[in-house]
Amino acid sequence: MALKIWLNDKLVDEAEAKVSVFDHGLLYGDGVFEGIRVYDGRVFELDAHMRRLYEGARAIRLPMHMTREALMRAIDVTVEANGITDGYIRLLVTRGIGTLGLNPLVCDRSCIVIIADKIQLYPEELYETGMKVISATTVRNHPLAISPQVKSLNYLNNILAKIEALDNDVPEAIMYNHEGYVAEATGDNVFIVRDGVVLAPPVEAGSLEGITRAVVIKLAREEGLSVVEKNLTRYDLYVSDEFFLTGTAAEVIGIVEIDGRVVGDGRPGPITRRLRQKFYEYARRKEN
Ligand code: PMP
Repeated sequence: MALKIWLNDKLVDEAEAKVSVFDHGLLYGDGVFEGIRVYDGRVFELDAHMRRLYEGARAIRLPMHMTREALMRAIDVTVEANGITDGYIRLLVTRGIGTLGLNPLVCDRSCIVIIADKIQLYPEELYETGMKVISATTVRNHPLAISPQVKSLNYLNNILAKIEALDNDVPEAIMYNHEGYVAEATGDNVFIVRDGVVLAPPVEAGSLEGITRAVVIKLAREEGLSVVEKNLTRYDLYVSDEFFLTGTAAEVIGIVEIDGRVVGDGRPGPITRRLRQKFYEYARRKEN
């Protein structure tokens, strides 16, 4: 069935949802976006996504021509118009239509697109058996150049690492920063477990501050687990007892092999499975 897409100020048919070839989102990847889940008819962690979007826009001096309240209403309208009760929302804000030059100030108005659709998930069996990953040779963008907190429309850095993963017949790659420390996966955050302690690279190492990551840290602490954010090396991943990724689409997924080294006993570990279950319940709880 054709979707209804929110474009700037109203819903339009999918076939009418078009942007200009002079939009700087297309010409330069100039803009920001969010990927958001809908569980049981409720938009998950909407406040956190709004905050990240508006902060990213402010950081790149992208004027938002919609208040948070109006944008949240537009999201609700789009979800409802497409009859989505469990799905995925892609929200993007581009710099808008300009000229062929870089100058963003000539773009008169940012362009807002909201797509609410069903979600393409990893197959369920991958959660049971666990996923294999490789280490990417593509270095994560320097965090002091463009902050990884800006979820920008330019994902080339991550796409290059994703190509390396696919070349090696695995779905994901781990990216390291300019100093060699673990940053994140191409579209997910990294966690390991060592001697019962949950370890995650600090966001300063060059990762997006994932909304799933924050929820999982909270749930782990509620479970009485200790969570420590510290720099991790490739070696730390190789000798971890458990290894998992978190993200809006993937939720919590166990990693069982990296660069040909088996993690733990080769299956998603007990803490990974417990946190996956806790996350599943949390996301579907009425009050969240
Ligand atoms: N890192 C990157 C590069 C991502 O694109 C994503 C997915 N948006 C994440 C981490 C995970 O973030 P979140 O939990 O907010 O989806």
